[in-house]
Amino acid sequence: MSCRIVLLGPPGSGKGTQAPRLAKELGVPQIATGDLLRQAVKNGTELGKQAKGFLDRGELVPDELVVGLIDEQLKALNGKKGFVLDGFPRNPSQAKALEGITGIDLAVLVDVPRDEVVRRLSARRVCPNCGQIYHLEFRPPKRSGICDVCQGNLVQRSDDKPDVVAKRYDVQYNEQAAPLIESYRKASVLVEVDGRGSIESVFERILSEIQARKSAKKR
Ligand code: AMP
Repeated sequence: MSCRIVLLGPPGSGKGTQAPRLAKELGVPQIATGDLLRQAVKNGTELGKQAKGFLDRGELVPDELVVGLIDEQLKALNGKKGFVLDGFPRNPSQAKALEGITGIDLAVLVDVPRDEVVRRLSARRVCPNCGQIYHLEFRPPKRSGICDVCQGNLVQRSDDKPDVVAKRYDVQYNEQAAPLIESYRKASVLVEVDGRGSIESVFERILSEIQARKSAKKR
């Protein structure tokens, strides 16, 4: 089985933490639309200017902008097999667009309940310089407000405020992602992983699901 993997899950499910680990373990690139969009906003590119308002409000950026971005990223892989997609597709029309670009081998759903998501994200802080993620309760920086890695000043993402988090969960996840998850389930490419617990235990669960799929395909 080649490793073309889509990571699904509500905002705050830990997808963004698991995606780079998984990509490293599998030896494939990770493509995270949220990171690419935030970078575009920071760099003040045309895409960034068009996307900024949506990001700040916790709304999905229009499909054509994100699909264009993904198309570019996947083409840049130059036919190399395998990727971990984090944050794309987010709705059925993006999934359809992806199908037009490439097939996938597996969709991994990292599942976390809503109250846990709100609790997790409201305490998340990020370093705008190097992208390191902290959690005030579970993974605080050594010095309050300062990044351990690069000494940058930590910030709260504008869409991590509690009311915006709740909206992202209800609209982006419950409404838009639910039919997408169903379609992957019907296509038998979906595996579900409990996203609660430590980063390591969730990672182990994801890997064992992928391994189980690979062995089943060989049989
Ligand atoms: P994330 O880092 O994946 O939580 O994404 C942060 C924000 O980026 C989302 O709230 C959306 O505004 C935007 N975004 C990321 N991926 C997509 C996507 N596939 N479609 C539309 N908007 C997206």
